[in-house]
Amino acid sequence: MRIAIHAALILALTLLTQVGALIYAAALGTRRYAPFARTPAGFALLFVALYAASWWPIERIAAVSGRASLPCIERAGLSSSAFSCVLHRHYADARLVSIASRLANDMDRRFPGTITRTLDGSFPFIDGLPLPPHLSHDDGEKLDLAFYYRRNGEYRPGALASPIGYWRFEQPASGEAQPCGGASTGLRWNMAWFAPFTADDLELNAGRTRYALRWLASSGAQEGVGKVFVEPHLAQRLNVHGEVIRFQGCRAARHDDHIHVQLR
Ligand SMILES: [Zn+2]
Repeated sequence: MRIAIHAALILALTLLTQVGALIYAAALGTRRYAPFARTPAGFALLFVALYAASWWPIERIAAVSGRASLPCIERAGLSSSAFSCVLHRHYADARLVSIASRLANDMDRRFPGTITRTLDGSFPFIDGLPLPPHLSHDDGEKLDLAFYYRRNGEYRPGALASPIGYWRFEQPASGEAQPCGGASTGLRWNMAWFAPFTADDLELNAGRTRYALRWLASSGAQEGVGKVFVEPHLAQRLNVHGEVIRFQGCRAARHDDHIHVQLR
């Protein structure tokens, strides 16, 4: 029973964080030297301590292979979601991190006080290993960005519409494009069960989100952005066009809850 629990935790940590399982194994290996870690609470403390202590070394080793981390504490108008940071899902190719920084910078210049939030990028190491559930996020060249939101008509800096930043969908209105007929097919999940965890008092900030999408389609494209996924009804509603603005198809994740950016 105990082995089964450890195995399940190691599998979950591998899928969610890549490095979490290694740190968990290190905690299992070192607990005999730490008497306080014999209780479940003590062991959890040891795990958290090792997790924190390995943070900087993980960043350094990832940097050697060309992956940089997005800032977990806001820096120059840019910050990653806490969910992505805690699980080491906030890494991306250094070129993509630089594009996100420049976008945040220009957003802040155009709309002072704006905070641009990034969501999942890639794991720190190894090309070809996808970041569940994003099958394409396997090489550092893909990064998700959150929309910008308002509450009661006022911009809320850095607000995310759910604890993980995903799955609060901007549903197509009647008369707007409905490319997949509302169906949940393949990886196009509608996630109805998740709705209670999303913020229903936030509304899409059309002005900032439009500016960011247009920036990605113009300056971003010049700097190496090859594709930006957003649902057709949002591109239409926000009046955003460009060669890189694409629809991902009906069998991939929806993109009316976040923006997916990938390098050429
Ligand atoms: Zn993505």
